Amino acid sequence: MKKIDPYLIRDDFPMFKNKVMMQGKPLIFLDNASTTFKPYAVEKAVNAYLQYETANSHRGDYDLCYNVDVKIDEARATLAKFINAEKREIVFTSGTSMSINLIAYGYGTKYLTKDDEILITQAEHASNVLPWFKVGEMTGCKINYIPLNEDGKLVPENLRKVISKKTKIIAVAHVTNVLGFIVDIKEITKIAHQYGAIVVCDGAQSVPHMPTDVKDLDVDFLSFSGHKMVGPTGIGVLYGKYGLLEKTAPFMTGGGMNAKFDMCGDVTYLQPPSKFEAGTQNIEGIYGLKAATDYLMSLGMENIRRYEDELRTYAIEKLKKNERVILYNEKAESGIITFNIKGVFAQDEATYLNSQGIACRSGQHCAKVLLDYLGEVATVRASLYFYNTKEDIDAFVSALEKGGDFLDAYFA
Ligand code: PLP
Repeated sequence: MKKIDPYLIRDDFPMFKNKVMMQGKPLIFLDNASTTFKPYAVEKAVNAYLQYETANSHRGDYDLCYNVDVKIDEARATLAKFINAEKREIVFTSGTSMSINLIAYGYGTKYLTKDDEILITQAEHASNVLPWFKVGEMTGCKINYIPLNEDGKLVPENLRKVISKKTKIIAVAHVTNVLGFIVDIKEITKIAHQYGAIVVCDGAQSVPHMPTDVKDLDVDFLSFSGHKMVGPTGIGVLYGKYGLLEKTAPFMTGGGMNAKFDMCGDVTYLQPPSKFEAGTQNIEGIYGLKAATDYLMSLGMENIRRYEDELRTYAIEKLKKNERVILYNEKAESGIITFNIKGVFAQDEATYLNSQGIACRSGQHCAKVLLDYLGEVATVRASLYFYNTKEDIDAFVSALEKGGDFLDAYFA
């Protein structure tokens, strides 16, 4: 097992090497659930495409074009290895939101009827709620909620209480983006399959931070975004079991996804994954995502998970000493820490942290129904990655200790 050394790792990232400042202070970036910094390796891969290898894919008989096809194929193989899937089960999308929409429209609206049910939870991101609302609107099926436990976590026992033969899809995050609990997807999938339902897993907050093995989880679909795993924006993945991808209708049609069509409208689609990749792909994004994936694999996903766990424990222990901090997810297992400061509105706290050079997110974090559950209007979220250091945590904790004075002064 390799130990993560964030100080060494920082040399790989332009945002650190360039000594980026915020409010005249060295930037402390604790908003990694939102997006992540990109290493030089990603920049280099994207630049290779832009500077030496520019051509479209599938569209020419010349060497440059063939090279792009080879590179896309290699990228697909890398992503497949990363999550223990088959290459043909990896669909390139623009990110998690598009991946989930693809399943909602291509599978949900095709197979569900008014007598069916989709189960989600109150902890889901908007991208794993609104597409299912659309399926409900279009098919008449019901959207119901698996109750969370007292900590705000989805536990398999609670699924057992509500699942029935009507349940056709269970759409849940592996790691939720506000409370950061790791859901036992393997057990959720086992229960779902006993009832003939499929599991659509939102991996946006899990795949970048821990090992993922789709075969072991037996999950039916899994979505994730490149930009949350040190890759470029605008590129992501939908994994699907091949038989299910074959059954799923394309969300978009056009060039690159059809085998033939005629004037009468008779169309034959290509097999997955091409069936879902209409139009010109985000080629430089795919180059960058491959480099990002190689980079993460070189660090080791288990090493990353262990390091983040250590950092989180360090942060929680320190935060608990500040009586003004209200922690909402002390028991969560990921690098997501959600809190408020007593008597201070979340956005004011985040603005104050900004004045100290610390980037945290505040608000509803795209999980609007969760805040009803927490009984709060808004929270502040600090989210860690393997390049964060204990010094980052010390600065953050010490800023929170001083925040009261700043805000008293601010509101005086
Ligand atoms: N699902 C979860 C749990 C997320 O945290 C996010 C982004 O924050 C998304 C989905 C949407 O990801 P993207 O904006 O990359 O499509």
